[in-house]
Amino acid sequence: MNNDKRQFHIAICGLGGMGNWHRETISRTENLHLSGSFDIADARQTFAREHGLHAYNSYEELLADPEVDIVTIAVPNDLHRPLAIQALRAGKNVVCEKPVTVSSADLRQMIDVAEATGMHFTVHQNRRWDEDFLCAKKVVEDGTLGPVFRVESAVLGCRGIPGDWRQEPEHGGGMILDWGVHLLDQICQMFPGRKIRTVYATVDHVTNELVDDGFYTDLTLDDGTVAHVEVGTSHFIGKPRWKVFGRDGSAEIDWGCRGKIVCVTDRSKNDAVPIRTAAGLTKTMAPRTDDTIKELPLPEVHSDIRDFYRNVMDTIDGLAEPKIKLAEVARVMRLMETVRRSAEERRILPFED
Ligand code: NAD
Repeated sequence: MNNDKRQFHIAICGLGGMGNWHRETISRTENLHLSGSFDIADARQTFAREHGLHAYNSYEELLADPEVDIVTIAVPNDLHRPLAIQALRAGKNVVCEKPVTVSSADLRQMIDVAEATGMHFTVHQNRRWDEDFLCAKKVVEDGTLGPVFRVESAVLGCRGIPGDWRQEPEHGGGMILDWGVHLLDQICQMFPGRKIRTVYATVDHVTNELVDDGFYTDLTLDDGTVAHVEVGTSHFIGKPRWKVFGRDGSAEIDWGCRGKIVCVTDRSKNDAVPIRTAAGLTKTMAPRTDDTIKELPLPEVHSDIRDFYRNVMDTIDGLAEPKIKLAEVARVMRLMETVRRSAEERRILPFED
């Protein structure tokens, strides 16, 4: 423990799957101490006690605890706004789970209250620390592939939407809000300073009529680069997590940073063994011969998710800028709304001038 630094106390509202993840992460982050948790489900209150955690009897009791500096909110999406506002007004700093809320109008209210109270308010966009993402971002930045013209980001499962509130629109269900928020945020981070000119999207309703259970979207950036983002829950054959295409090479990156880079070494040599099918032949699509390409390993990246909470504490103490800025969160919220509207209207929509 670094004793030179201020010690922070944190309480968790909602001790379900993700609340428990926060419990574990907080417990191994220096200078951060768990004051307790509150969950409306008795079973989760019992779970808290069984894990040595103080279970507050109500959210009001949690907010009234003067020891608590930060409240982490990990409840269904529709409850983020009221519970975050309540905590900010109680003088607590707030870490809100993603998606921050279910609409830009809701988010505006939350930001207004954060500004009025002067409390720190941020969102757990934890997948900015995913190593596959950091690796894909580094491949784009390193220039190994030459100018990048297309990035594909896919998360494809085959279990449908989990059978809880995620299936219900009134709780902010659906995959755009659930996974889209991560993947769109990653694309925004991958191309800093670049504008997204247009958005085109389609959504799936394979196993669920009420909310989208997957979507595809193409974002066209100001220089013509296309970012394709795809989420699915009925895909029994998946795709690699990332593909990056540049003029001089391509990269494939899967979960756990498995994958490779293939670059051209001699573009002038165009000998090709045609691909023949019973019905035809193509040299255009034939693979390059081994003497004109080289395979490279993916760049190494390292991340530590505890940096999220370290940054929250440093920001509260005025020692750092927030890593997750509310303007970025608001942009991704607008992007998700545009994805949904593009699918509804079945057309390409402008996004940023
Ligand atoms: P979950 O259903 O497992 O847990 C939600 C918990 O909130 C439940 O235990 C429920 O009883 C409790 N709850 C509901 N209303 C409450 C209230 N008014 N007060 C206190 N507790 C209440 O859901 P989850 O998967 O843990 O998702 C929770 C949030 O975390 C969602 O916003 C979700 O999008 C987010 N999440 C984020 C990630 C990530 O990687 N960042 C991953 C999973 C979930």
